[in-house]
Amino acid sequence: MERFEMVIGGRSCPSSSDEWFETENPYTGEPWAMVAKGTATDVDRAVQAAHTAFTSGPWAQMTPSQRGQLLHRVGDLIARDAKRLAELEVRDNGKLMAEMYGQCQYIPQWYYYFGGLADKIQGAVIPLDKKGYFNFTRNEPLGVVAAITPWNSPLLLATWKIAPALAAGCTVVIKPSEFTSVSTIEFAKLFEEAGFPPGVVNVVTGFGADVGAPLVEHPLVKKITFTGADSTGRAINEAAARQFKHVSLELGGKSPNIVFEDADLDDAVNGAVSGIFAATGQTCIAGSRLLVQESIYDSFVERLLAIARTAKMGDPASLETQVGPVTTRPQYKKVLAYIDIAKEEGAKLLLGGNPGSVSACGNGWFVEPTIFGDVRNDMRIAQEEVFGPILSIIKFKDEDDAVRIANDVRFGLGSGVWTKDIGRSLRVAERIQAGMVWVNSYRAVSYMSPFGGYKDSGLGRENGIDAIREYLQTKSVWINT
Ligand code: NAD
Repeated sequence: MERFEMVIGGRSCPSSSDEWFETENPYTGEPWAMVAKGTATDVDRAVQAAHTAFTSGPWAQMTPSQRGQLLHRVGDLIARDAKRLAELEVRDNGKLMAEMYGQCQYIPQWYYYFGGLADKIQGAVIPLDKKGYFNFTRNEPLGVVAAITPWNSPLLLATWKIAPALAAGCTVVIKPSEFTSVSTIEFAKLFEEAGFPPGVVNVVTGFGADVGAPLVEHPLVKKITFTGADSTGRAINEAAARQFKHVSLELGGKSPNIVFEDADLDDAVNGAVSGIFAATGQTCIAGSRLLVQESIYDSFVERLLAIARTAKMGDPASLETQVGPVTTRPQYKKVLAYIDIAKEEGAKLLLGGNPGSVSACGNGWFVEPTIFGDVRNDMRIAQEEVFGPILSIIKFKDEDDAVRIANDVRFGLGSGVWTKDIGRSLRVAERIQAGMVWVNSYRAVSYMSPFGGYKDSGLGRENGIDAIREYLQTKSVWINT
């Protein structure tokens, strides 16, 4: 079986324990490669390499424009290798080729955008209230960044962290999910090819307890940027607080997608279906609570079912496939367990509700696109993040009721509003407690626009100009004139 090593200090290397773990293909349910099982010793080596690169290597001497040029170069290499990277992610993660190829072609934009920002990080001259002083500020990189990513979108989510961190002048140790390490390892090698000095981008692979926790606790790591489950985010935040480390957290969601009676219903139906079933429901912004106004509830649900019923499950590598497998075996079991929970709670099963049929789907971890109607917002299926192809439909009376239900959840990541009334769209957008509001669309994302959560969905923002601030600290310089 193919073996994938870590990337530390510009070199591929096995684990210090010389141990490996299997990574599985969700479509076949079989292991397809071995990945180095990292330890705290490997974490220390990677952090030391990143620290040396930050403090004394050629990276530390580069001008911001030179850093920007390297970011542009790595963007070009990612574009060159988009197909190969997409294929790796399809195999390791079960993502659809139809989605991944486009995503890997889009990822370079983050490197071009943040590469362009690298030489625009400016301080300010402060007009003081005191005579005899000149005061100015400098924005300085925080230092070694630990970037910890989940399994659902390895390359995209790593990019959201790496591109602004490098533009700011930091160095990075990436810890991908143990379920989907391979694409990140291959990706990291492109940074060396682009000319980044050794140690600027490192990858340690392995399990949360073995490498994730030691990385968070390493005293030379100054910033942790994490995407994953809120329970893990809480543990990381607590550990980081003991050393006053900077932290950004992108956590879960239970996003409301609200359809008012005056919406363009064709658009809204399509937005509701893709809002939940894209990436097999395994996105933090999945529109997993569909709020439908009671006056159109029955007809809207009928149209929704007619479209959702046609979704084609199958081989993620085939461009025909619309719904791929669940990425991990534990997640597959979790999704099926939530179907039972919803049934026990009295939600009405309208579509799906079973594992995917084996003949169409190899032996992989498939769950049929599943829709529950008559869901109450206090049910677990409406409050807890499932992270799978399960949609809960909830009825509402009017605008106030919609906003109340939308906000009655501990998360606050995405949200959708479908209406032709511009006043209503603005009122609801203002009242919704969520980091992103999409009006008459769902899940649009860009390197230019801030992304992040309210409430238990996280801290800090990725993408856009805001993102670079997450990797900088301000120094105020006073000169007695
Ligand atoms: P997870 O929290 O289990 O794992 C995420 C990463 O953290 C993995 O690399 C894991 O090894 C590591 N980890 C685990 N324990 C750790 C510890 N104690 N210290 C340091 N690192 C540790 O999450 P997951 O199951 O891989 O991903 C699914 C979750 O990610 C969902 O809740 C989803 O909503 C969330 N997510 C959020 C966003 C967002 O931007 N808000 C995007 C995608 C996914």
